Amino acid sequence: MRFDVLTLFPEMFGGFLQSSIIHKAREKGLITTNVVNFRDYATDRHRTVDDVPYGGGGGMVLKPEPLFRAVDDLTQGLPRPPILLMSPQGETFTQKKAEQLARNSQLIILCGHYEGFDERIREHLVTEEISIGDYVLTGGELPAMVLIDSISRLVPGVLGNKMSAVTDSFSTGLLEHPHYTRPAEFRGLKVPEILLSGHHARIEKWRREQSLLRTWQRRPDLLQTALLTEEDHLFLKNLSRKADQDD
Ligand code: SAM
Repeated sequence: MRFDVLTLFPEMFGGFLQSSIIHKAREKGLITTNVVNFRDYATDRHRTVDDVPYGGGGGMVLKPEPLFRAVDDLTQGLPRPPILLMSPQGETFTQKKAEQLARNSQLIILCGHYEGFDERIREHLVTEEISIGDYVLTGGELPAMVLIDSISRLVPGVLGNKMSAVTDSFSTGLLEHPHYTRPAEFRGLKVPEILLSGHHARIEKWRREQSLLRTWQRRPDLLQTALLTEEDHLFLKNLSRKADQDD
């Protein structure tokens, strides 16, 4: 999986790309990252990448030429991979979207800054606009890192434990069950007995029920689309019944 990132602040990616799982994935060659300063593609001697908006108003607007030229240079006339624009106006990023994007072998990610982009970038260069949530950041660099991180961990071999990505929150359509580790008792707080029992089938049942309970409490909207068994439905029905009795 290859990520090409176009940004005016490549230095922001240093710590991220050189740490932890992403660093290891790069070292193993499971992912390749290419961070490009699109100022290098400016056409004038001042290396201008932005200008004032036509029609007046505050803020600077990113010019089309540097970004179009940078993408031309990256793709060299070959079929283009998805070209993603980080934008608070885009489709909200989700685990499902990460899974969908992880099916590509290359992604080009454009990071904005300042007031915005010349609309021709949106209309004629970009294939998708992606937002990481309903808030506004100073630039698209953090959103780009969010994308790279969440997509990379879906690339086979990137996570040590193969099961982690499968049981993560959202992957199953539900929030993940709680975790505990040693010690079995800490300041009088005990780990649930069932987890110490060694009885795998019962532990799996407990985890599934905890996952359902947590989703029901925190994100009931997810239950509308999650894949649920007859047993799950029964468990949820009992939860609702109990809650009604308590009211
Ligand atoms: N004026 C723009 C608007 O209202 O849509 C916001 C521009 S923002 C200050 C600068 C850049 O940060 C954007 O072009 C985008 O690349 C990035 N950005 C900010 N918030 C974002 C978000 N929630 N998701 C993805 N990218 C974001």
